[in-house]
Amino acid sequence: MTGLTGLTIGRALALMRAGEISALELTEAHLARIEALDGTIGAYLTVTADTAQEQARAADRAWAAGEEKPLLGIPIALKDVLSTKGIETTCGSRILKGYKPIFDATAVARLYAAGAVLLGKLNMDEFAMGSSTENSGYVLTRNPWNPEHVPGGSSGGSAAAVAAEMALASLGSDTGGSIRQPASFCGLSALKPSYGRVSRYGLIAYGSSFDQTGPFARNVEDVARTLGVIAGHDPLDSTTMPLAAPDYLAELEGDIRGLKIGLPREYFAEGLQPEVEAALRAAAAQFEALGAEVREVSLRHAEYCLPAYYIIAMAEASANLARYDGLRFGARVEGADLMDSYKKTRGAGFGAEVKRRIMLGTYTLSAGYYDAYYGKAQAVRTLIRQEFDELFRRVDALLAPVAPTTAFKFGEVTEDPLRMILADVLTISANLAGLCGLSLPCGFDGADLPIGMQILGAPFTEERVLRLGHAYQAATDWHLRGPDLF
Ligand code: GLN
Repeated sequence: MTGLTGLTIGRALALMRAGEISALELTEAHLARIEALDGTIGAYLTVTADTAQEQARAADRAWAAGEEKPLLGIPIALKDVLSTKGIETTCGSRILKGYKPIFDATAVARLYAAGAVLLGKLNMDEFAMGSSTENSGYVLTRNPWNPEHVPGGSSGGSAAAVAAEMALASLGSDTGGSIRQPASFCGLSALKPSYGRVSRYGLIAYGSSFDQTGPFARNVEDVARTLGVIAGHDPLDSTTMPLAAPDYLAELEGDIRGLKIGLPREYFAEGLQPEVEAALRAAAAQFEALGAEVREVSLRHAEYCLPAYYIIAMAEASANLARYDGLRFGARVEGADLMDSYKKTRGAGFGAEVKRRIMLGTYTLSAGYYDAYYGKAQAVRTLIRQEFDELFRRVDALLAPVAPTTAFKFGEVTEDPLRMILADVLTISANLAGLCGLSLPCGFDGADLPIGMQILGAPFTEERVLRLGHAYQAATDWHLRGPDLF
């Protein structure tokens, strides 16, 4: 821990409440750290120093007036997929260069209303397509544990910023693993909420039936705190559940004795790095020691998750990305006529991975192929969802690795887009079935890179999943370690 920037949110709030530190001091410490370190880490695309100082001063006035808000004066940062009024929002893409939304995403508006201080916008794979942040149209983000390794993706900036103590918490988005996997690669706690738990209003769409935004933090308690702020029904997003969110923080302390945890056999298959498997087995034993019942379960449809996800995600992406035509948002390259302008804008604005997915998605949606690919993938998705529904009648949660390996090196996997896709095998089932998933650290490999595990729960059981994670962290100290910054 490096003084103020290494605090948990809980501790920072206590210090501000006691008048021992000010929100402005806390914010200045973060801005100074970003200034000193981010040239090497590359987590930020935009630093909003003026906004941050202004919000921090307002927070200090609120503290002085005796106000209590859940994130009053807490410096946070946002994946650049979240719309921020008047602040450039690029989604990691050149095609949105210069785009300043005219409204805030609901999750962002709720963070502000809770007193959070915005430090800036974070790097990501272009339109959240990728697993290493190497597909960003802007900068390379390095893993704070080892600069030769990727931070994971697509929310690599969100993970690197918190791991490198350049924010106390951040938001990312998870369409197929993009919150859980970078959290795992960077040794953080983070949650993909159930589909419909957090508003997607203002979250720039990739695969609309999968996308969810959720928090990254240093421990499960801070994840619960932040989730409590952003979760709940939003009249602006008709896919949010019309239910009040529980008090996640209050629900953390409950007992986990007797809870049934399933270990999906198929997730401990070939290709799993032996150190990852060993760490997961040790975590399962830890849960047993805490009184949970751990048993092996089987997911018959596991092998169909990857193809179903990638067909549906690319189909949805091809529809969602049609709006980037150079006329309405961001950058524009003038051509001889309208069609030529479209082509030139998209040719220059989109990166290779995005183009590949638009083409594949358009193909699977086209007449003659729709039934064979898209329709079939949707049918498979329903089977997957049914299998999870059935499984969650027998167990309270599932425990699994987040990724088959720890953070890989730059270029190692990128050269082969198929290999990159295969690395998502353990995370995407949660998105297909709308589950919630908590990622948290459970060990280190021989090269001192963090290993993560995920606790998956039935839709809208975040409080139970968080309680399991919190109980684990009360008994272990993996989450207390931070990288030795070079
Ligand atoms: N790696 C997956 C993809 O590229 C998941 C990305 C995400 O969750 N945004 O689709």
